[in-house]
Amino acid sequence: MMTMEGRIHSIETFGTVDGPGIRFVLFMQGCALQCQYCHNPDTWDLKGGRALSVKEMVDEIEPYIVYYRRSKGGLTITGGEPTLQAQFVEEVFRECKKRWNLHTALDSNGFCEPENVAGLIEATDLVLLDLKHIDRDKHIALTAQPNDRMLRFARYLSDIGKKVWIRHVFIPGINDDEEDLLNLGRFIGTLNNVEKLELLPYHTMGIFKWEQMGKAYPGADFRSPTEEESARANELIQQGIAEGKAGRQAPSAIAAGADRAASSFATATTVDINTAAFEGNRANHR
Ligand code: SF4
Repeated sequence: MMTMEGRIHSIETFGTVDGPGIRFVLFMQGCALQCQYCHNPDTWDLKGGRALSVKEMVDEIEPYIVYYRRSKGGLTITGGEPTLQAQFVEEVFRECKKRWNLHTALDSNGFCEPENVAGLIEATDLVLLDLKHIDRDKHIALTAQPNDRMLRFARYLSDIGKKVWIRHVFIPGINDDEEDLLNLGRFIGTLNNVEKLELLPYHTMGIFKWEQMGKAYPGADFRSPTEEESARANELIQQGIAEGKAGRQAPSAIAAGADRAASSFATATTVDINTAAFEGNRANHR
């Protein structure tokens, strides 16, 4: 298994915004979505990047282990979409657990089937789940795919009690509709496992990648939210979470078969507005 190869986009050795503590962040190649605001369109091609074995990958992490352990950090694998190379990611996580008992986080868009990633999820301590839009049609417009799989994956993680931070890139005019924000909260309010919700205000720092690739940036009309707009979104999501806990369902969750009676143990109570995560603290990114 140590010789199994994965296709890697890049690594970051001192990540501070993708999970707790200081983290090694591994960006995998490949993504089946086409988010209009994507900051890494050069990760989309599953055949791009470079090939590394599990052993080579874990050896790259080793020199920095002391920092990750002291800061209660660990390893985050993101992309692209890491579940497209689930077996490789699982092996890297398992090896890091075996060698150093390292904390493992998977940053996923949730576009996967639970039966294909069960082993990977078992080796994962924390899932950072990116929910792009709660409305199915608007999700298709934004990412080129419907959100049914993402909602069902979120439900699966709740059912097995896997710890989750939900992340939501917030863009005025795209996902700031009152009912959508309430529905997002209502869905989250029916999950049992959400430790944190991070609202990531949109910004334009990723445009240069599209220019480098000679592609027109589809989000040319997008703008960053004001602090007031982010605060309003926060309030609406909180209100929705309270309604979800009280049993009110989001229509898209029902349509996707991801609805469920609210649990009295639902844990999502706070919304963090995390400007750093979407800006990407990428000083050590290579
Ligand atoms: S899921 Fe992430 S990597 Fe994939 S297109 Fe969307 S933003 Fe880009």
